[in-house]
Amino acid sequence: MFDVVVVGSGFAGSVLAERLSNVLRKRVLIIEKRPHIGGNSYDYYNEEGLLVHKYGPHVFRTNSKEVFEYLSKFTEWIPYQHKVLANINGTKVPVPFNLNSLYKLFPAETARSLELKLVKHFGYGTRIPILKLKKVADELGDKDLKSLANFVYEKVYLNYTLKQWEESPEELIGVLDRVPVVLSRDNRYFNDKYQAMPKYGYTTLFYKMLLNPNIKILLNTDYKEVLEVDIDTGEVSLFGKPWKGILIYTGPIDYFFDYEFGELPYRSLEFKFETYNVEYFLDAAVENYPNEYDFTRITEFKRLTFQKHPKTTVAYEYPRKYIPSKNEPYYPIPRKENLRRYQLYNERARLLNNKSKTRFIFIGRLAEYKYYTMSDVIQRALDEFKKLMGANKI
Ligand code: FAD
Ligand code: UDP
Repeated sequence: MFDVVVVGSGFAGSVLAERLSNVLRKRVLIIEKRPHIGGNSYDYYNEEGLLVHKYGPHVFRTNSKEVFEYLSKFTEWIPYQHKVLANINGTKVPVPFNLNSLYKLFPAETARSLELKLVKHFGYGTRIPILKLKKVADELGDKDLKSLANFVYEKVYLNYTLKQWEESPEELIGVLDRVPVVLSRDNRYFNDKYQAMPKYGYTTLFYKMLLNPNIKILLNTDYKEVLEVDIDTGEVSLFGKPWKGILIYTGPIDYFFDYEFGELPYRSLEFKFETYNVEYFLDAAVENYPNEYDFTRITEFKRLTFQKHPKTTVAYEYPRKYIPSKNEPYYPIPRKENLRRYQLYNERARLLNNKSKTRFIFIGRLAEYKYYTMSDVIQRALDEFKKLMGANKI
């Protein structure tokens, strides 16, 4: 019946399902344990009629023309440049911390002298990871730069990171580099070439991707309810009958292998949605609160979607420990030992593929245990499709 089974309907699973069914006419079954498609990018209209993102704010950006053009087959776009304000000492300043933030927090003369030093050492327009800025300021032995770097580290990054991850920033490989200090007046959160929001939302985009009679979707189903994989021999049965084909797996890799090497840890979140009877509630789409409250940030969805409505819905994000079967595994925790554990699973997946008549593809944020953006995942899926087209197992 099915040539391909896809576990999970986020971008990783949906892009491959779309490509395999539309280009290669494969018959695809998607198994999704949630009651909806779209993975973490899912959005919906709440009871007030406001479009909200169920799993936190999703802003699309990419430097890949291929990814942008691919998605453009399924959506029109609203041009959008994401801006974030962080509450520092009672003042709302742009993050990434930039020269405007500097002038908002320091007297003009101090700010001017710091700007000159920063530009002299790093160059105007540079984007510097905060841990690098701290290190270089230390090495230079310039006490003004040192105290600025420490100020930004402590006020913008340290408490936010402790709240979000319950880990010290130095332990988290690459995480702080996502939001570098910016030596310019550019208040945008991202500097990617393409930045836009899907005009009718993400879920509509997913519907368009998956609208094909060769794609069947089984919602509300953990794949283990209908698909049995012998992880030693690679034999597979689907609905109780032997099956072979292409199995694209986008769920957590440790769950697939029955936690053989132990659990891969994640951070979870709790979103508290509030609707207010005002047109706008925040001064930006996202406001970060590094040093106050138990939540890290508030998102006002209307500022992302440009919806006109007399009311507004916002979401407060509370970081949580991940407890399997209780909440959702949102963020892989990129500590050294976790990445090592993931490598054991990755190797296990390779061995499984060597033995099996079924081709197993582990792809996406959960299956590769990587802090991917939507664009990263779509690019990975498009590349994987190209590999499949060239492979003889297809
Ligand atoms: P997912 O979207 O997680 O999809 C995996 C799917 O597999 C899920 O639907 C899940 O239910 C299903 N599944 C899992 N296990 C099973 C099982 N056992 N059986 C059946 N189905 C299963 N990226 C951006 O580019 N911009 C942003 O602004 C952005 N903001 C984010 C904010 C938050 C709070 C989070 C958590 C992520 C954000 N991301 C953002 C990242 C983005 O969500 C991911 O890159 C993207 O969703 C990854 O797609 P995926 O298909 O790998 O995984
Ligand atoms: N971060 C921070 N302060 C901020 C914004 C970000 O310390 O004001 C750090 C924090 O560790 C966070 C990481 O940078 O988890 C990545 O931020 P990003 O906004 O990319 O997080 P995401 O949108 O993926 O949750």
